Amino acid sequence: MSDRINLRARLLSLDKDLEGKIVLEYYEDGFVVCEEGLIVEVLSADDYFAKMPSGVSYEDLRPHLLVPGFIDNHVHMPQQDIIAGRSGELLDWLDRHAFPAELRYADHDFARIKAETFINELFSAGTTCAQVFSTVHRHACESLFVAASAKKMCLVAGKVMMDRNAPVDLLQNAADCREDTESLIEEWHGRGRLRYALTPRFAVTSSEEQLSYCSDLLSHHSDLYVQTHISENLEEIDAVRSLFPQQKDYLEVYEQAGLATTKSTFAHGIHLSKDERQRLFLAGSKIAFCPSSNLFLGSGLLDIESIPDANLSIGSDVGGGTGLSMLHTCAEGFKVAHLAGYDWHPFEALWSITKGNADALGLGNSIGQLRPGFFADMVLLDLDQPRALKNRLEHCENLPDELFALMFLGDDRSIARTYVAGEVVFDRMELS
Ligand SMILES: [Zn+2]
Repeated sequence: MSDRINLRARLLSLDKDLEGKIVLEYYEDGFVVCEEGLIVEVLSADDYFAKMPSGVSYEDLRPHLLVPGFIDNHVHMPQQDIIAGRSGELLDWLDRHAFPAELRYADHDFARIKAETFINELFSAGTTCAQVFSTVHRHACESLFVAASAKKMCLVAGKVMMDRNAPVDLLQNAADCREDTESLIEEWHGRGRLRYALTPRFAVTSSEEQLSYCSDLLSHHSDLYVQTHISENLEEIDAVRSLFPQQKDYLEVYEQAGLATTKSTFAHGIHLSKDERQRLFLAGSKIAFCPSSNLFLGSGLLDIESIPDANLSIGSDVGGGTGLSMLHTCAEGFKVAHLAGYDWHPFEALWSITKGNADALGLGNSIGQLRPGFFADMVLLDLDQPRALKNRLEHCENLPDELFALMFLGDDRSIARTYVAGEVVFDRMELS
C-alpha cells in the first residue's frame, strides 16, 4: 500500500461517445487515487470522504487542474536544439538545420545526454507519451528508449531510415540499416511501455528498396508502428513525383510498400488529393496535424474539419514546430482552423492531445484519460501562471473559454507537475 497516492484537485478528462460527441468528466473538487502506477479511482470529494475511513492522508493540489498527460504524436528528438532555425521552406530547412543537428548524434555521449534531456523537456511541457523520430544512429535510438524506460514512460520511437538525398554520413546501406533496425526491434519493441516504429523519414530520402524492406519487416512483425511524412510541401511533392514516376501519387509510394496500416502515422498530409485522403482514411492510417510546424515553415494549412476523428492525430513536430508544448500546438491549431473558417472547439483540442492521440496510437484503453485501470500519466496545471493567463481567467465564464485561454497564454510556468505511471517526473512546485 505504500505506493498508494490520493490526490485532490480540480479534475478534467475527456472522452467521446459512439457518435463522436465529447463526453466531459469534470470535478470542481475531486480525487484521483493511484496505486502501483495505475489510477484506481476517480471521484468527487464528497464521494471520496463518504467512502474513505477518516485519517487517510491525501495531497491537496487545489486550485490546480489535473488532466491526463499530453501525448505528442509527431516529434523529432534530435531537433530539440534547432527550434526557430531561420530558413526557407522545408527542404532548405532540412539542409540548413535538421541534417546538421542530426549529424551531431554520431557521438554516443552526446546522443545519450540529449536523449535524457529530451525526455525531461517533454515532461516539463506536460507530455507523458510521444511518438518520436530519433536519428539514423542505432545508439541514439537506444539512448532514447533507455531514457524513457528509466521513467516508465510510454514511448513509440524508431531509428530514422535514409539511403539518399541527405548528407552521406546520415545515409545507410541496406545491410547496415537492416541489422540496426532488427536489433532495435528485438531489444525494445514491446518491452514495458516501449514500442518500435519503422521510421523512413520520407519518400525523398528512402529508395524503393528501403521502403520495400520496411514492408518485409512488417510482414514479420505486423504490430510495428510506422511513422513518416507525406505531402507537407509542394517542392517535396514535386521531388517525390520525379523520384517515383511510376506511382500515380505520393500516397501510392507508401501503399506499394505496404506502409499504410492502421498503426501508421503520416505527418502533415496538407496537400493530399481527395482520392489520397479517402484511401488513407480507408486504410485506417492517421494524419498528424502539426500546425506549429506548418505555419513556421509556410507549408500550408491542413483542413482538419474534413479529417475523421479516427484518422486524426496531432504533433508538435519540433523542430519545425516552435515548441514542445502541446498547449502551444493547440493554440497554433486554432489559428489554422480559423483561417479555414472552422471553429475548433477547445474540448476537441484538449481531447486531441489526450484521448484522441492515445486512440490514434491504439493505446486509448490505457492512457489519455483519468480513468480507473489507466496508467497514472497526468499533468497538473497551474492556471495562475503566467500572469497574463491569470488576468484573462478572471474574465472567463466557462470551462471552454478557460481552456482556450490556457492554450494561448499558458506556458512552461503553467505546468506545475507531471506524473508518469504515478511517479512525479517533473515538479515545478518543488523548484519554486
Ligand atoms: Zn516531422
